[in-house]
Amino acid sequence: MSARPEPELTEPCRTCEELDHEEAVARAQRDGSRETDCRVLRRRHLAAEHGDGA
Ligand SMILES: [Zn+2]
Repeated sequence: MSARPEPELTEPCRTCEELDHEEAVARAQRDGSRETDCRVLRRRHLAAEHGDGA
């Protein structure tokens, strides 16, 4: 069980990590609109690349 890798669908890819990082930076800079942008982009990316839009 513990040796089982995460399902491929939810495995973070480079784009996920970049959006994650950018959102963290935006939050640190209290840039609310940019933070929202990152969240929207990631949502869109998840739906398109990871099939997690439902
Ligand atoms: Zn991704």
